[in-house]
Formats: sequence, structure tokens, C-alpha cells
Amino acid sequence: MLRFKDFLRKGDFRVPLCTACKETIWPPFETCPICLSRTIFRRTTKRGILREFSTTFTSETPQQFGIVELGGVHLLGSVHGFGISVGCKVILYECGIDNNGYPFYKFKKCP
Ligand SMILES: [Zn+2]
Repeated sequence: MLRFKDFLRKGDFRVPLCTACKETIWPPFETCPICLSRTIFRRTTKRGILREFSTTFTSETPQQFGIVELGGVHLLGSVHGFGISVGCKVILYECGIDNNGYPFYKFKKCP
């Protein structure tokens, strides 16, 4: 998890890949949980598909968030833009680690 967070802290989203069995490892681990080999952190596409979404009204302005399938993994993040629907294409435009130490992902609808 350490290398993953180091990359993410810099806004560089990467997905771990096992160097031996070539499996995508998600959630991220330093070693492969299948064969215990070392993982490398590979840059992936920033374009994904919105699989589910909802709107939260807990803040002053309503905010949308959803589950995005991207590079073989699923991420929960905020989704910005109008006309969002399940199955639409979105792009990861910002990611990182917030002040509480939690990862965040921000998506917007592809034009
Ligand atoms: Zn493996």
C-alpha cells in the first residue's frame, strides 16, 4: 500500500500488477496475494465507464458520486458534469490523498 499511496499523493493513479502471474492486484498490495511475488505499479488509462451513481444532499450544494470501472478496477469518486447516466464515459481528472489520509478520485463526463 505504501508505494500506491506515494504515487496517489502526487496525483499519479497507478494499478499494481504482479511481476510473475501478471494479475491486476486490487485493492493494492506490495506483494501478490496469489503467488506472493513482487508487484509493479503501472499507469493506466484515465478513461472509465460510470457503473453506478447517486447524489448526496448533505452539503450546501448537491454532489454526485459514483462507481467507475477504469483499467480493470472499480473506484468510488465524485462525478462532475450534467447529463450523467449509468454507462457514460468519464475521465479521471484529479486524484490524491485528502487531509484525513483518505484517497479521493474526481471524475467528469467525457465530452
Ligand atoms: Zn502473482
